[in-house]
Amino acid sequence: MSFLPTTLQLRDRAQGALDRIGVTVPVGDDLPARSPITGEQLFGLRATTAEEAERAIGEAAEAFRTWRTTPAPARGDLVRTLGELLRTHKSDLADLITIEAGKIRSEALGEVQEMIDICEFAVGLSRQLYGRTIASERPGHRLAETWHPLGVVGVISAFNFPAAVWSWNTAVALVCGDAVVWKPSELTPLVSLAASRLLDRAIEQVGAPRELHRLLLAGRAVGERLVDDPRVALVSATGSTRMGREVAPRVAARFGRVLLELGGNNATVVAPSADLDLALQGIVFAAAGTAGQRCTTLRRLIVHRDVADQLVEKLATVYGRLPIGDPFEDATLVGPLITDAAADAMTAALERAQADGGKIVAGGRRLDTVGGAYVEPAIVRMPRQSGIVREETFAPILYVLTYDRFEEAVALHNDVPQGLSSSIFTRDQQEAERFLAADGSDCGIANVNIGTSGAEIGGAFGGEKETGGGRESGSDAWRAYMRRATNTVNYSSTLALAQNVSFL
Ligand code: NAD
Repeated sequence: MSFLPTTLQLRDRAQGALDRIGVTVPVGDDLPARSPITGEQLFGLRATTAEEAERAIGEAAEAFRTWRTTPAPARGDLVRTLGELLRTHKSDLADLITIEAGKIRSEALGEVQEMIDICEFAVGLSRQLYGRTIASERPGHRLAETWHPLGVVGVISAFNFPAAVWSWNTAVALVCGDAVVWKPSELTPLVSLAASRLLDRAIEQVGAPRELHRLLLAGRAVGERLVDDPRVALVSATGSTRMGREVAPRVAARFGRVLLELGGNNATVVAPSADLDLALQGIVFAAAGTAGQRCTTLRRLIVHRDVADQLVEKLATVYGRLPIGDPFEDATLVGPLITDAAADAMTAALERAQADGGKIVAGGRRLDTVGGAYVEPAIVRMPRQSGIVREETFAPILYVLTYDRFEEAVALHNDVPQGLSSSIFTRDQQEAERFLAADGSDCGIANVNIGTSGAEIGGAFGGEKETGGGRESGSDAWRAYMRRATNTVNYSSTLALAQNVSFL
């Protein structure tokens, strides 16, 4: 493992990025900004108070009143400007993502690229928020469907995509005519300050209402204000299933809308016909990349018995050589886990897996370093899909299960509470199509001959079952950020009632 940078070096690097972006850090002592690279605190921040959160929601609601009648292509101009600022500060924002979330450099840059991409998508969308005209059953009538801005969107986001998830929601919400109040993860406050500042700058440049976006730099309690406030029309919450279970019923109780992006327990099926070299690459990136801290991380490998030993042996060899350490080093592929607690959860999961008859065939140890929680990604061969395998442990553990018949693989695949991402490696076209069919994978994302992670922004992103059912990003996910109105216009001089009802 390479030498780690010191906390002082990280602080200087973060300060440089923040200065270039134009962030004034709110100094205080109630919200620490720390780096998983050393496990130490970089800055002490002042958190948003409950009263400030209350005011912020009110300001956003006020800004919405102007924004909703601004023509959509003009709203797109704001998002175009944000995209340009993101390009200019790509490296700065990526630095902060590496410092606070521990992502390796190329993945941190990739996260910012994703933000730029969604801005471009949203700019195009600003001229394509199409309604439709529907055939009316009445003569001299026009029946149509129109989409209108929804209101204030509350965005609650997780630590592992500290900036991209915000941009998926915000770029689309803004072109849809909504205002946004963001409660980011308390583990990544610097990234949120930076992203938020870039949007503020874009707002200033185009002359949009200043309060269109508000940042709540705080923990869960302040997030709960977004959940309970009737002025927040949509709560888009990304994080654990535990969080979604708390948030969803509370928003439902006030008849608000939710968009939930929760935990995954993603699997790849490897068929006997698979190109094993291709599979190997796809599996290692999906399972060990981001140190197993993606919602789409590959956690279960379901391999045909004929190729299981061979594939596991190849995987174990690659795992034995994975460079773990400083995420700023070009050679590093696996950075730190976010906290000590995450490493403890990994150890506990491995113990449970072993108690269930699992055998660790690669990795699994915590590296003996000062500060950060660095772990060797683990591969565990399991005799069956026991309780621990059916849970999401947010760490790099890959459970391997074997199957004999395709139907058995699909049954194992779907027999977990989560339903986010899935894939199959096969050269058998029939098998590939069956995996994608109605009785195949039950996930929101189903791939062939690629891994489970690394989705493009053009598609709708999200999953079923305990993953929450929400869809964000591309395709027609924008509809969640708007309200639909059905309009009937009578341009005749008689009043015809629907279904031939006669009255008066
Ligand atoms: P987390 O649930 O601990 O926190 C996520 C966010 O929710 C944070 O901002 C937190 O402050 C807030 N929060 C927690 N409880 C809340 C409550 N009761 N009311 C309001 N806000 C509350 O998740 P995490 O550890 O930051 O992230 C990891 C989890 O997120 C994993 O389960 C991962 O799979 C999931 N995730 C899902 C997606 C997806 O798109 N499906 C994307 C990224 C992460």
